[in-house]
Amino acid sequence: MYKMMTPGPTMVAENVRMARSLEVGNPDFDLDFFDYYRDTCKLYSRLLHTENESLILSGEGILGLEAAIASLTETGDRVLVLDNGVFGKGFADFVKIYGGNPVLYTKDYRHSLDAGELKKYLEHDSDFKYATLVHCDTPSGMLNDIAALCPLLKEFGILTVVDSVSGMFGNEVNVDKSHIDILCGGSQKAISAPIGLTMVTLSKDAKQAIDNRSSDIASFYANLSMFKNYYENKWFPYSMPISDIYGLRQALENISNDSDFLNRHARIAEKTRNALLNSGLSLYAEDGYSDTVTVFCIPEGTTAADILKKMQQEHGIMLAGSFDVLAGEVIRIGHMGFNCTEENMLETFTALNDVLNELNVPLKEPLIWK
Ligand SMILES: *Cc1c(COP(=O)(O)O)cnc(C)c1O
Repeated sequence: MYKMMTPGPTMVAENVRMARSLEVGNPDFDLDFFDYYRDTCKLYSRLLHTENESLILSGEGILGLEAAIASLTETGDRVLVLDNGVFGKGFADFVKIYGGNPVLYTKDYRHSLDAGELKKYLEHDSDFKYATLVHCDTPSGMLNDIAALCPLLKEFGILTVVDSVSGMFGNEVNVDKSHIDILCGGSQKAISAPIGLTMVTLSKDAKQAIDNRSSDIASFYANLSMFKNYYENKWFPYSMPISDIYGLRQALENISNDSDFLNRHARIAEKTRNALLNSGLSLYAEDGYSDTVTVFCIPEGTTAADILKKMQQEHGIMLAGSFDVLAGEVIRIGHMGFNCTEENMLETFTALNDVLNELNVPLKEPLIWK
């Protein structure tokens, strides 16, 4: 097995894998499971600094995004789509699918969104039901300051849907302080459980907006109102993937028990950027650096495919290329969750230095982890 140093999925801790192999009961009829599910949701909310209700949905991160949009959007709703990255822009597709009218606020992909500029925009147009934004736009490693942007949008009466699938736990998310109405997360990024679960966290305002719709939600699986009173009624809209949830619970407990988790991400991300810059490589972003993924530009004379192939075949380490407008342009090093350790980074940089040398990429100084 190769080592995945990709920006999700990550390697998975042994205790998470073991939790997923425990014997299971029937999640529809075992009343204790409703407590277990709710306690897991509460632990997740607590780690995100909120008492807002979180729901665990059976599906990959994309389902959480779609469920948020499906549940909020009614025909003709104007939705502000903050776009400074591939996932940022992608929200417009969901808005359209569910009958909304996406209004793109597009900015340079190499810079994080500026709250001051957004404020000026909102002063001339703020007639939006909700806005979508991405915390860490993974294809470019772009980090947006949700703690500044979301409260600003709320001041203008706009609900916020935040995709922090690849940001949360590696970068601080404080749902209450940031006034986030729907926060979307996934199991396979910094949480470091396998792919398969998505979590949505709903504010009172978000629930009210869903309750007050005049039309039905055009989905079953992506309909968040289906979970209303699930605990009181002991009824889930569909059978819950119990083994996945056992794994998620263990992964969340690992984070909860690791007081250095967030700081370690900040330290390792900074060292990653410095190591790349010292050797003369350039980072894709000009500001807004994520602490979960670092993205560097392909040096002249080689290709992303060559670097990735050698890393995996000769060193057993998988890095990631990118996609959409960034396909072939950059390489992404994931340093999130269970992967975010000095040992993994030392191994990755030692291998990357060898690979770049073999490909005759001139470096200002060797690429070393120090
Ligand atoms: C990983 C990720 C998702 C989930 O989608 P994938 O199918 O894994 O690409 C959603 N949003 C962001 C920002 C992500 O990084």
